Parts: sequence; structure tokens; C-alpha cells
Amino acid sequence: MDFQRQPEVYDLLILGSGAGSKLLAWTFAGQGQKVAVVERRYVGGACPNIACLPSKNVIHTAQIADYVRRSETFGISIDNFRVNMPVVRDRKRKMVQELVDTHLALYRQSGAELIMASGQFVGAKILEATLPDGTKRLLSGKNIVIGTGTHALIENIPGLAAAQPMTHVEALELDVVPEHLIILGAGYVGLELAQAMRRFGSKVTVIDRNHRVIHHEDDDVTEGLQQLFQDEGIEFVLNASVKSVSGVIRWVCSCRDRAERCGEFVRRYSSFSRERARTEYKGHRTRTHWSGTDRAGIYQSKRPPGNDRAWHMGGGRGGGKPAIYAHQRG
Ligand SMILES: Cc1cc2nc3c(=O)[nH]c(=O)nc-3n(C[C@H](O)[C@H](O)[C@H](O)COP(=O)(O)OP(=O)(O)OC[C@H]3O[C@@H](n4cnc5c(N)ncnc54)[C@H](O)[C@@H]3O)c2cc1C
Repeated sequence: MDFQRQPEVYDLLILGSGAGSKLLAWTFAGQGQKVAVVERRYVGGACPNIACLPSKNVIHTAQIADYVRRSETFGISIDNFRVNMPVVRDRKRKMVQELVDTHLALYRQSGAELIMASGQFVGAKILEATLPDGTKRLLSGKNIVIGTGTHALIENIPGLAAAQPMTHVEALELDVVPEHLIILGAGYVGLELAQAMRRFGSKVTVIDRNHRVIHHEDDDVTEGLQQLFQDEGIEFVLNASVKSVSGVIRWVCSCRDRAERCGEFVRRYSSFSRERARTEYKGHRTRTHWSGTDRAGIYQSKRPPGNDRAWHMGGGRGGGKPAIYAHQRG
């Protein structure tokens, strides 16, 4: 670190421009505070760019595809029905661009400064922002908020990373309907993608290590959901964990208490390498482990401390539930 440089000081400095971060930035800047947000890629965070909103856009199109496929049921005949995935993707991209433009306009209106750069803490309350051209800015804040979110996790299963599975990011950029999509993880994201791709025309198999889908919800809810998805033709392999992946796609699994099902699974999928199948893995891990928070003297706290000036919010704070809680500056 160049200790000769004096950091630019803000009233509020925010790392990451996701859901909570941007609202704080616009609110406090609108009240006259000097605010900067450091964001390395996604204006507005994951939600409008690669997560909530683009996924709902694609899901909506899939619902229309489902209506069209079943149009005879409603007395409407449609010939030559086919899904044009490049158009589906472009419609989604257009919406994302409009959202980004809206975010940029709100930054301009509020007076909050959006710095497109990768940030890492290099000292207590001192952040180094590296701009795309390599220029570095040293920033500090009287108050600091960390909202660095999460990133998709590829589990450490032998061969999985080498098989180059899609995460939700790539899945939402598909310009073909996969012949057979295998989804690891029957959580919300895995299931909504499963239903959408099934409605576009893919064969879909969902694998989960738990014995039911969205396992932390009530039994009657998960049973109802699973039945709905099965009625649409989605196949579930539950209580199964993937032991290894070889070649393009070839799964070997073990089941905790259903060995016979496991054998069937291995046999049935032993020909996967001949199919144009790809995988999607749902799972997220927090980003704070590399954004230098340890150098900033920040550590995790279970409850909001009374006298904080460094805060950590959103998806990156850990746990599965949306909430904001604080991390204390040491
Ligand atoms: C496919 C999918 C669908 C979803 N659908 C829904 C839904 O329908 N409803 C719902 O409520 N939730 C949904 N979610 C969850 C929701 O997207 C997250 O809970 C939310 O985006 C978390 O917001 P955040 O601000 O904590 O993090 P993020 O939105 O991830 O923002 C963090 C930002 O920090 C930036 N960043 C990270 N590190 C640095 C660094 N060192 N320097 C600079 N910038 C950095 C990242 O680029 C990112 O833009 C979905 C998630 C996925 C994956």
C-alpha cells in the first residue's frame, strides 16, 4: 500500500451496488451526504442483472410457451410452434439494459457517485478501488457498508468443475433449448429454472441430496410442489449425492437410504456422455472472504452492535434469509 496517498473521504462508502446498497446510496446522497458506491461489474447488483429479474423474465416467456403448447386445450390451433431461444434471451437482455439505465439515472439524480471498480480493503476503513484501466483510487468513508453479495458455488465434486457446468448466470444466457438439462439442487432457483426449461421443451432431471424438494419448507408444501413439477414431466432424483462426474456428463451417485434407486440412477444415466446434456448447479457462497474485510478490521457479529461504523448487509452476510445485520469494526 502507498501510504503517501491520502484517501478520498466520503460520508458513506459502499462496496457492492446490490439491493440494499443502492437504496442507502440514493437515500443518503439525496439528503446531501457525500456518497460513493464501488461496483466491479453489475450496476444494481445481481438482482436486476443475473438473478431475480432476468430469471422472472425468462420464466414468464416459458409460461407463454406452455400456454401455446397447450393451446388446443383452449380451442386455439397454432401450427409450427417452436421456441426461438435467441429471441427469448434478447428480450431478457433488453429488460436488463433498461434496468441498468434506470439505475444510472437514479445515481445521477441522487448525486451518489458510482465508481465502476473492483474494491478491496487495504487498511482500517480504507478501500482501494481498481478501475477497469488499472487506475487505482484510495477511498475512505466515515461510514462504510459492505454489500458484496454471493457468487455461485461449484461444489468440490470430482470432475464437476472440469465438466464446465452452467450456473444460473450462463443458464439465463442460453440461446438453445438443451436436449436434457440436469440440475443439481432442488432449491428455489433450481426449481424455477427446471420448470422454465421444461416448458421450453427440455427433458429436465433435478438431483438433490435431501429426500424432498425445498426441504426446509413444510412437508405438504414440498409434496404439492413436487407433484406439480412431476405433472409437467420434470424428473426428480432425491436423497442422492453426486460422487463424481466424468467425461462430459456421467454421474455416479450414492443414496443414503435408497440403494436400489441409486443403482437404477447410475444405469439410466450411464449413457449421458452421448447426450447434449449440461448441468446447472445452484449454490452460493459469500464474497467477503476475498474482499479484504480482515484487513479492514471487520469481523462477523451475530447481532447489530450499538456503536458501529462498518456494516455488512444483503446476501453476502451469510445465512439463507433476507435481512440486514451488522458486522463490527474491530
Ligand atoms: C437465479 C436467481 C433468482 C433469484 N430470484 C429472486 C427472487 O425472485 N426474489 C428474491 O427476493 N431474491 C431472489 N434471488 C436472490 C437475490 O438475487 C439476492 O438475494 C440478492 O441479489 C442479494 O443482494 P445483495 O445486495 O446482497 O448482493 P448482490 O446483488 O450480489 O450485490 C453484490 C454486488 O457487489 C459487487 N461486488 C462484490 N464484490 C465486490 C468487490 N470486491 N468490488 C466491487 N464490487 C463487488 C458484485 O459485483 C455485485 O454487483 C435470486 C437469486 C438468483 C441467483
